[in-house]
Amino acid sequence: MSVVYLDNNATTRVADEVREVMLPYLSDLYGNPSSMHTFGGQVHRTIERAREHIALLIYAEPEEIVFTSCGTESDNTAIMSALLSSPEKRHIITTRVEHPAVLNYCKTLARRGYRVTFLSVDKLGRLNIDELYSSLSDDTAVVSVMYANNENGVIFPVQEIASIVKSAGAIFHTDAVQAAGKLPVNVKEFPVDMMSLSGHKMHAPKGVGALYIRRATRFSPYIIGGHQEKGRRGGTENVASIIGFGKAAEIAQEHVESDDSRVRGLRDRLEEELLQTCPGALINGDRGNRLPNTLNMSFEYVEGEAILLRLNEFNICASSGSACTSGSLEPSHVLRAMGVPFTAIHGSVRFSLSRYTTDDDIDAVLRNMPGIIKELRQLSPYGRNADKTKIKN
Ligand code: PLP
Repeated sequence: MSVVYLDNNATTRVADEVREVMLPYLSDLYGNPSSMHTFGGQVHRTIERAREHIALLIYAEPEEIVFTSCGTESDNTAIMSALLSSPEKRHIITTRVEHPAVLNYCKTLARRGYRVTFLSVDKLGRLNIDELYSSLSDDTAVVSVMYANNENGVIFPVQEIASIVKSAGAIFHTDAVQAAGKLPVNVKEFPVDMMSLSGHKMHAPKGVGALYIRRATRFSPYIIGGHQEKGRRGGTENVASIIGFGKAAEIAQEHVESDDSRVRGLRDRLEEELLQTCPGALINGDRGNRLPNTLNMSFEYVEGEAILLRLNEFNICASSGSACTSGSLEPSHVLRAMGVPFTAIHGSVRFSLSRYTTDDDIDAVLRNMPGIIKELRQLSPYGRNADKTKIKN
């Protein structure tokens, strides 16, 4: 039975074309890009071409791109660099719904003596911009607000946020790990200082990321070592993965519009039919302003983990915002920040599609979900009672 993979916000399959361009760098072309000889020099030139493709994807200049080991490193680097570049400022603003790569880093910084404001969101997952205005001060060094949320897909108005932050004299960083490749992202259109990207969310391998650093932004490296990346990130380059990342960016740029409409169509069909066939189903997140590939739903009075396990029996991969599945003991901080009721958080499931998702994949979910929800609700004492009172067919 082939896998129905609907967990693309967690990671994506490596595209065939990406694997193809990587292979020579895992066998014959093993030179070190920093070497003086021609053998290494040719590797250096291919890395520079990959840099150009990443830059093109977000309309940046190649020299504004620094390769890192992952989105998490890019996020940590951006925030730390911003703090080091204005050491007299001790305030950070971020949101309650960031990925742990930003959220937990900011919590750590709070324990180290920084003042951190965590902006709230409303019940649709939309950011409270008034709170941003009232939190900014002369002491604010950096504002880090994600471009699009990995759990509910909600897109934040980073263009507007960037302008507000810049007029207050702070550095603006955005985590665009989920947005890049799924939405047209153009750094020329708004005054963002730094932006994080990750390869494995756009059909490149895991373990490679990039940080966009706008020209003339003061920057302090996080990983200090050799002169690689013009001294902005030490360490011998992950050559094959960088080359794969470049190819993935090139493909993403070519396909961003066609992928958007096709993937959105599949997601919308999944959403509409699940709403019709599964009583007590709710959508988490702003339906009018979401990533085209993301669907986060709650099935009240059913355990998300139980849904995932049953889907797994049909070889369908999705993920859940309820406890334990993501290796954490806490239910989703994103759904909690949105004020989603406890009973619905525990029954949340995220389906995330990709360019490779087919109609058959969607049909497989639609065939199985109504039965799974019905069966699990029958097993739950709350669900049995709720079925009669609250949940209408
Ligand atoms: N930021 C967001 C929004 C993400 O979704 C992820 C990964 O899930 C990351 C950062 C971390 O990226 P990486 O896995 O490359 O460290």
